[in-house]
Amino acid sequence: MPLYFYAECLDCGFKTPYDPKKPGCPKCGSLWREAHYNYAVLAQTFLKQIANRPFNLWRYRELLPIQKIIPDLTLGEGGTPLIHAKNLGLMLGLPNLYIKDERQGPTNSFKDRQAAITIAVLKEAGITEMVCASTGNVAISYSAYASRAGIKLWAFLTSLVPAVKMREVALYGTQVVKITGSYDLTKQLAEEFSRQRNMFLDLGARSIPCVESMKTIAFEIAEQISNLVHNHELKDIEPPKTPWMAPDWYIQSVSGGMGPLGADKGFRELKLMGLIEKQPKLGLIQTEGCAPMVHAWRQNKDEVIPVLSPRTRIETLATGNPGRTYTLLRKAIQKGSGGEIESVSDEEAFRAMHLLAKMEGLSVEPAAAVAFAGVVKLFRAGTIKPNEVVVINCTGHTVPVERSMLGEGWEHNIDATAKAVQENEEGLLAALSSVTIDKFPKIAIIDDEPDVRKLVRRILQSQGNYVLVEASNGKDAVEIIRKERPNLILLDLMMPDMDGFSVMDTLQSQPETREIPIIVVTAKELTAFEKGRLKGHIQSLMQKGNFMSDDLLDEVNSLLK
Ligand SMILES: *Cc1c(COP(=O)(O)O)cnc(C)c1O
Ligand SMILES: [Zn+2]
Repeated sequence: MPLYFYAECLDCGFKTPYDPKKPGCPKCGSLWREAHYNYAVLAQTFLKQIANRPFNLWRYRELLPIQKIIPDLTLGEGGTPLIHAKNLGLMLGLPNLYIKDERQGPTNSFKDRQAAITIAVLKEAGITEMVCASTGNVAISYSAYASRAGIKLWAFLTSLVPAVKMREVALYGTQVVKITGSYDLTKQLAEEFSRQRNMFLDLGARSIPCVESMKTIAFEIAEQISNLVHNHELKDIEPPKTPWMAPDWYIQSVSGGMGPLGADKGFRELKLMGLIEKQPKLGLIQTEGCAPMVHAWRQNKDEVIPVLSPRTRIETLATGNPGRTYTLLRKAIQKGSGGEIESVSDEEAFRAMHLLAKMEGLSVEPAAAVAFAGVVKLFRAGTIKPNEVVVINCTGHTVPVERSMLGEGWEHNIDATAKAVQENEEGLLAALSSVTIDKFPKIAIIDDEPDVRKLVRRILQSQGNYVLVEASNGKDAVEIIRKERPNLILLDLMMPDMDGFSVMDTLQSQPETREIPIIVVTAKELTAFEKGRLKGHIQSLMQKGNFMSDDLLDEVNSLLK
């Protein structure tokens, strides 16, 4: 038992020891209660207690509602890596952009934190059967842990949950109850079922173990960010006076809002104990088709008006009625943490999903991509500033990629069984020539910064078929362009010795290179004189750190036509 741990009612303030079998306040019956610990004592002891423990979520056990760890239950939950999103950061002009990769949990979503701790608490309390309602990931994660704990699980799922996810739930031996109807209705039916059968019901944001479990992501992020800052890996950020440091932003895609509620509480506790100077702002991102929090936030309302029929293909985020969780999050943002609640369209999320896979090597589910699309939007609106440290909770795993998410032209087909191909070797080579590169347009990338060349190369190679040549200075550029005769040149202006202007002048003084179109890609703020020098000589001007891959690709493709 952690030191002086108790539950305090949010409605009447009554304090009691916590008993998972009695979820309501004994005085007023409210289900909304919050866990409290003795922060004054922990401020003195916590760092010493955790010092030699492995990096997983049990490391923070003094701040969790468990008596003791049950080793047989663990599947390696928590302790996920914090990954630098270097390419995305370069593209946006946001150098300190980090991804908390929750796909790396045991069932590939951040719900593993919730399941690991809740199931441990229930096991401790001797509960053997339970009910949960889910948009997919909660049921998968609870199923895995329930299986280890010997708890029978009834999972109520909306019929919108993809069939593969539903079958994964069943694979663990969970009883799947599929409801044709909204998620909110599914939750009501699960509640009714648990009442009829007198079974334990998972209460989500009203459950102390659930909310407490989400604190662990905050603790991990604060430790990881402080390691980075002390190793001078954050650009232009000085180490704080406190032992740990929080980022400026915690960004998450939001459905019911339990994740940010718990994470915010975690950061608040770290501040109470003097481990961090300030809490991160909360960036809560919903899908446009189901954005009750965004509507209420914009209208400055304290309560949501439920969205009765969500219109989104991202079923994981289809909580139409987040209820009091919104009210609590709004209070957290307004009274302390700061932040913003915003929405993005399904299409923006799908685009972000592509971007993340192509630029950072992370294949995520659409619900997770919503948070990334949200960062782009908040950054462009000036809400997120270029010098801020931003952590995105990459909430969940890949689902099998459906055709509609890929678009056209992603495969090359060769029928090696066709007669013409089989008859002789030339047939096979002819068939392969459809995939060879000599037909593809050639583009020269001229930039002295290796990171920028790498980024531009990645944008082009992952999203189109081009032959790419590179040069890192003006002299080599002129030489390579004369030799290779590219169809297009991407030219940096600021390079030592021979700068971009001189490269342009040299190329355009020669008949054989005069006609090659040029896109200037520069980080330079151009003077009127410099703009005048470029006018009539280049086809397009793009500002580094401010273009997304789509913009660059659009320019490239329109000039190659
Ligand atoms: C549950 C879930 C969310 C939403 O989390 P809440 O904190 O409950 O709003 C987002 N993305 C994924 C992948 C999820 O599984
Ligand atoms: Zn009460």
